[in-house]
Amino acid sequence: MIDLILLGCGGNMPMPNRFLSSLFINYRGRKILIDCGEGTQISMKMKNCGFKNIDLICITHLHGDHFNGLIGLLSTIGNSSRTEDLTIIGPPGITKHMDAVRVLVEYLPYNINIIENAQGSFSLHNDYLKDVEISTTNLEHSTECIGYSFYFKRRPKFDKAKAVLNNVPTILWQKLQSGKNIIMNEVEYNPEMVLGNDRKGIKVSFITDTRPISSIPEFIKDSDLFICEAMYGDDIDIPKAIRNNHMTFSEAATLAKSGNSKKLILTHFSPALENPNNYIDNATRVFKNTIIGEDGLEINLNFED
Ligand SMILES: [Zn+2]
Ligand SMILES: [Zn+2]
Repeated sequence: MIDLILLGCGGNMPMPNRFLSSLFINYRGRKILIDCGEGTQISMKMKNCGFKNIDLICITHLHGDHFNGLIGLLSTIGNSSRTEDLTIIGPPGITKHMDAVRVLVEYLPYNINIIENAQGSFSLHNDYLKDVEISTTNLEHSTECIGYSFYFKRRPKFDKAKAVLNNVPTILWQKLQSGKNIIMNEVEYNPEMVLGNDRKGIKVSFITDTRPISSIPEFIKDSDLFICEAMYGDDIDIPKAIRNNHMTFSEAATLAKSGNSKKLILTHFSPALENPNNYIDNATRVFKNTIIGEDGLEINLNFED
């Protein structure tokens, strides 16, 4: 099971009742954070997210409403007695920004690995997150901006008949399931000899601060959950959305539909959009399974069957 919390659904500036962009993912007790707007750690504290097990922070771009919360958060993670490495992925310029952050947060009891401008799909060399495939795509914003998608792989089931058929000694069954090759009596055994067919994983996509460019539907294709910015409620604001490199509700919904998403959550609302629920019809008319994001919204995703 994967538990997600939308920590903040605001864009541009923090509002009294709306934190800035951030999504929290809890995967088998290990934590991933996407974006870290100012106030993110307060929102995390309100939801009892825990700081110590954050292994990965993905930053979409270097605008303050997505990045400025890092200074405080990294210190708080340090105070949680974390000593394991932490990875930060971000757009071109992230290393320079992190150098500036490290002037303010000089001592931390853990190392930070920075991956700048990662392209394509990859997994981290991290025992906790090795089953998570991370993909990135370039978006169209007023600065370089990255969209993320996470595919949480599901391990195949143990297949006893297959293990017997392949003459795998019983003593190795459990060890092979953990994914390692084993040599015994000069015979090499591999996990495929005891595991069944691949099983469908869970895909979560996060796209914020961009125009709805044509590469997005393919990138988010078949997402179980698609979280997308929706700065403006009404299509009357499309000229403004074009000018500011953002989207309207209906544009986000059109992406969800073209990408065959299962569920859409709208986020990153303009400070001027006081009650996004007033505009939900503009999205559901295009894509029925749309939810208006709100701070603290919890979503649980389960593997099929
Ligand atoms: Zn923003
Ligand atoms: Zn921005």
